[in-house]
Amino acid sequence: MTRVGHWAGNKTFPGTSGRTAQVTNPATGAVTREVALADVADSRLVIEAAADAFPAWRDTSLARRVAVVFRFRELLNQRKNELAEIITSEHGKVLSDALGEVTRGQEVVEFACGIPHLLKGGFSENASTEVDVHSVRQPLGVVGIIAPFNFPAMVPMWFFPVAIAAGNTVVLKPSEKDPSAALWLAELWAEAGLPPGVFNVLQGDKTAVDELLSHRSVKAVSFVGSTPIAQYVYATGTANGKRVQALGGAKNHAVVLPDADLDQAADAMVNAGFGSAGERCMAISAVVAVGDVADELVAKIAERARNIRTGDGTQGCDMGPLVTAAHRDRVASYIDRAEQDGASLVVDGREVRAEGGRDGFWLGPTLLDHVTTGMSCYTDEIFGPVLSVLRAESYDDALELINSNPYGNGTAIFTNDGGAARRFQNEVEVGMVGINVPIPVPMAYYSFGGWKSSLFGDTHAHGTEGVHFFTRGKVVTTRWRAPSQGGLNLGFPQSV
Ligand code: NAD
Repeated sequence: MTRVGHWAGNKTFPGTSGRTAQVTNPATGAVTREVALADVADSRLVIEAAADAFPAWRDTSLARRVAVVFRFRELLNQRKNELAEIITSEHGKVLSDALGEVTRGQEVVEFACGIPHLLKGGFSENASTEVDVHSVRQPLGVVGIIAPFNFPAMVPMWFFPVAIAAGNTVVLKPSEKDPSAALWLAELWAEAGLPPGVFNVLQGDKTAVDELLSHRSVKAVSFVGSTPIAQYVYATGTANGKRVQALGGAKNHAVVLPDADLDQAADAMVNAGFGSAGERCMAISAVVAVGDVADELVAKIAERARNIRTGDGTQGCDMGPLVTAAHRDRVASYIDRAEQDGASLVVDGREVRAEGGRDGFWLGPTLLDHVTTGMSCYTDEIFGPVLSVLRAESYDDALELINSNPYGNGTAIFTNDGGAARRFQNEVEVGMVGINVPIPVPMAYYSFGGWKSSLFGDTHAHGTEGVHFFTRGKVVTTRWRAPSQGGLNLGFPQSV
């Protein structure tokens, strides 16, 4: 059995904890690897490797740092199919989707290649008489990145290219469900010429996370995962004096207004609801049909959902399995419950005939209609291929529904009415908004992040906010005076 280990000092090591977790191929149900779960000693070893590497990396010229990031981008671009295959083998998403994830991550690497422009400070000559003022942004030190299972490459790449280019050293704690992508990325960094200790991987669970949240050398933590853990990470990390951005769960609504093109809207609902088997933080899980469009829209979504090929992600299917058997069973239990609660089951994914291993973690696309806000299929983040349709009488009712929901990650509106779309993007309390775009994931040079219970902290990922998160500002006030210009003055300095 292959053991997936930690990575520090540009080499892998198994750790001494003796604890491991199984890694499965979700399309076959087979255990394919085991991953090391760090204890405190393993965690400290990795964090200390990052701390030791920091001074030299910080002092490496911006030109040299960016040259390494540029080489990493070139290697990634050449070899991204290898990474996509690793993702599919442990996560289950279909290969084209895995490749899409890598490509969106690569965009952040490309953004980080341009970081010198964003690290430039300001300069004010003669701000006061013979006094100049300038500002700089400096790296923080060791930064921790704690990732969820659903994007084992893209989510870490939201953060580490920016953190490294800015002069920090990184400890990445991947999900224990799909830990191999992180090691592949670590090897690529070494090949790109990144000095040992600048990028490190700590495999593990809560023990590793808690060490990242308490170790004095860790200065900042970027977390992505479910809301309860995001809340815990934010509260614990900030209580320990760390800078924390913690991105949480989601319940993303798509509003379909009566004037929308229903075929295009139905395509979008299916793509955004069932892509990656609904295991995306930007998946649409609640469709809000406004006015009299609901019956026709549901029929169009159902027709499309029934034609989705569910199966092994390496075999050209549309939708892969869920990540684990336990998660598949949990998602299926929401379908059972929705039926009991009175929702109409239009398409039942529990009956899927998947094109893949008999023991794969299968669940087909599921469509629920007449869902109301009290049902658990609406109140909870299901994180599976289950699309719920709610009916609203008016635009205002739809808006009220979304703004009353505790999550605020992504949302979309489908309409041909520019005025309604303009009102929506202004009035909706959600961080990322699509207008006739179902998964409005911002480009790398904008910042990614939700509102309300979808993000704790005030800084979003990548873009200028990411650069800000991984650096701190310093302002220098300078005066060069001739020896004859001295003199005592105990008053508070004022501009003259
Ligand atoms: P998760 O919260 O279970 O795990 C996330 C990370 O936290 C993992 O590395 C895990 O090992 C660690 N962890 C788990 N339990 C912990 C505990 N008790 N203490 C400390 N650390 C712990 O999330 P997941 O199931 O891996 O990922 C799915 C979730 O992530 C969904 O809720 C999804 O919406 C969310 N997500 C959000 C975004 C976003 O941008 N907002 C993006 C992707 C995923």
